[in-house]
Amino acid sequence: MKKHNFYAGPSILSEFTIKNTAAAVENFAGMDLSLLEISHRSKEFVAVNDEARALIKELLDVPAGYEVVFLGGGASLQFCMVPYNLLKKKASYIDTGTWASNAIKEAKLFGEVDVVASSKDANYTYIPKDYTIAEDSDYFHYTSNNTIYGTETRKDPDVKVPLVCDMSSDIFSRPIDISKYDIIYAGAQKNLAPAGVTLVIVRQDALGHVDRPIPTMLNYNTHIKKDSMFNTPPVLPIYAALQTLKWYKEQGGIAAMEKKDMENAAILYDEIDRNKLFKGTVAVEDRSIMNVCFIMNDEYKELEDEFSKFATAAGMVGIKGHRSVGGFRASLYNAMPKSSVEALIACMKEFERKH
Ligand code: PMP
Repeated sequence: MKKHNFYAGPSILSEFTIKNTAAAVENFAGMDLSLLEISHRSKEFVAVNDEARALIKELLDVPAGYEVVFLGGGASLQFCMVPYNLLKKKASYIDTGTWASNAIKEAKLFGEVDVVASSKDANYTYIPKDYTIAEDSDYFHYTSNNTIYGTETRKDPDVKVPLVCDMSSDIFSRPIDISKYDIIYAGAQKNLAPAGVTLVIVRQDALGHVDRPIPTMLNYNTHIKKDSMFNTPPVLPIYAALQTLKWYKEQGGIAAMEKKDMENAAILYDEIDRNKLFKGTVAVEDRSIMNVCFIMNDEYKELEDEFSKFATAAGMVGIKGHRSVGGFRASLYNAMPKSSVEALIACMKEFERKH
């Protein structure tokens, strides 16, 4: 049966990415060797690493003065690397969900942290808008897309201090004004590649201003100076990332992705709003384009398990909401075909007809 993959991450990748990566696992770059058994210093793999980083610069229109590196440790390691490398005295953070609060917890190990606003009291169902960032902050950190709760900030904020963003779950879903940021980081396992690599875009001028000694592996400059090859990089995720990036380019780039993502999200939110059985969980103006969260309407709450089984039988995979929200979450990352979103909508309509 055709499966419709709505997992929140690791999540759907393009067929192009999966087929080409599988082929390279058999025979990489015509070397008659597997991608899994070649030296990361072979000229063939160095070319992959360089092309992937160059394509990121091209697709995201990264200006001069920025470096792109692939690191290990997931986005979670960036929660620590960012303050290690940037926090001198005080940083400002906005608490919009679990990942944001994990980032805050790490930053507190390095200095004073001013949490400018939090929507925790409302189970993170909205993004606070009314807050002030102290102008003596070393940086302001935010999470552009809150994967668990389904809220998103799709506009690059205007702030007077250096800006840092966790874009793990919405990078490549819209054009970004990179020049507004000092650091952008993103775990690969949503819109880029299988888990195992984290993409980091760093403004070079932002580095070198803290006095503390930084362990070699946690220092961005270590990786920048070695063209992202200081130690053995995760070759398979990087190869897969290159395939995804090539696919983005062939599809018309990031603007084309944004158009498709907006259309997919719009038809699903329309159905949630129309269907008497369901309702969305977050403030309408903050709805995520990537992670669409919804629950049963109060009078139909007892149908949740039944809908879950009904959707599973129809081929829907990964629509169970995160345990802290409940209900359902359909993640609509860049590789999501419209036909899968339509299949979910048809399933919701059919279930409504039955009740
Ligand atoms: N930030 C966000 C927005 C996430 O969705 C996640 C989880 N996928 C993380 C950080 C943590 O990422 P990782 O598991 O790669 O450490």
